Amino acid sequence: MKAVVYKGPFDVAVEEVPDPTIQGPLDAIIRITSANICGSDLHPYEGRVEFESGMVFGHENMGVVEAVGAGVDRIRVGDRVSVPFNLACGTCRNCTDGFTSACLRANPSGQPGAGFGYPAMGPYWGGQAELLRVPWADFNLLELPEGTEHELDFTMLSDIFPTGYHGTELAKVAPGKTVAIFGAGPVGLMAAHSAMIRGASQVFVVDYQEDRLALAEEFGATAIDFSKVDVTEAITDLTDGFGVDSGVEAVGYQAHDHTGEEHPEMVLDALVSVVRATGAIGAVGVDNPSDPEGATEEAKQGRVAFDFGTAFTKGISIGTGQCPVKRYNRELRDLIIRGRATPGRIVSHELPLDDAVDAFDRFDKRVDGYTKVVLHPAA
Ligand code: ZN
Ligand code: ZN
Repeated sequence: MKAVVYKGPFDVAVEEVPDPTIQGPLDAIIRITSANICGSDLHPYEGRVEFESGMVFGHENMGVVEAVGAGVDRIRVGDRVSVPFNLACGTCRNCTDGFTSACLRANPSGQPGAGFGYPAMGPYWGGQAELLRVPWADFNLLELPEGTEHELDFTMLSDIFPTGYHGTELAKVAPGKTVAIFGAGPVGLMAAHSAMIRGASQVFVVDYQEDRLALAEEFGATAIDFSKVDVTEAITDLTDGFGVDSGVEAVGYQAHDHTGEEHPEMVLDALVSVVRATGAIGAVGVDNPSDPEGATEEAKQGRVAFDFGTAFTKGISIGTGQCPVKRYNRELRDLIIRGRATPGRIVSHELPLDDAVDAFDRFDKRVDGYTKVVLHPAA
């Protein structure tokens, strides 16, 4: 089959690799119809996290079941399915507690949490390919209505729609609440969409890239361009001096100012400043225990010195971590089916697999308009 293969920093190739096969009774093989390029794919792409040469990229996958192992009896050949980016066993302590993001059995390294086509998430190939092997298929796969309807919406169910929603859950967004989301990348935009769905009265999205801020406004948010205004002042003014109830961090460890200079503490400091006393912050942008290319000595060791003293004084709760996709994806799917959610609106490009090399390059350079790329391997 054809697949997007990682060769080294800034080097991916579309190559022929062996087809995946059923290796155990609980496996399924999915013929991929859509696989998205994710902002977090850029971390290994840029060499900011180590990734094994020869691995197949892609953790945002959906498709049609091509084959199943002898022990798979819920999911059937021909089913259209979404594949959560977390790969989980379904039976360990964390899985049974609902934290499929921290499965204790799926990652052979012993580290909690496994996934597809991503550094430190186990040996599992990703789905930027014609076919994908999914272990524990009955547990992991989410069934979708057959056909091709809502493809661009459903393809957001594997990661960024649930991840954005998880940010609003950690930030305790509820009807009438006010919300500030930092980062208008795909996850920030999904957090804005989720906050509106959850009935927030005011949603602010902070970024400096005009095309992304324009998308945030399409989702009903108020755009705040931090290269032009003082964010704390602007949000304080617009909330009658109160600040917001909830804040979402959708940027992660490469937080930078509008000149591109990295300041790992920048977004957390701003959140602590704009979230009102007793409010809540959900941090879903990716951070890592080490970052050899980090901007400071602390950042290289995954340490971020932010204004924790003020956060404590204000009694702000802070939730973090990868989204356990299965906790939300069924209900988010049904919002799509009933026309109440349209996450596919952020898709900027639909491309065949062969265009992946160019798409990685342009997405990485933030070429204007490259917001969310969906690859269609069958195209
Ligand atoms: Zn992703
Ligand atoms: Zn597990």
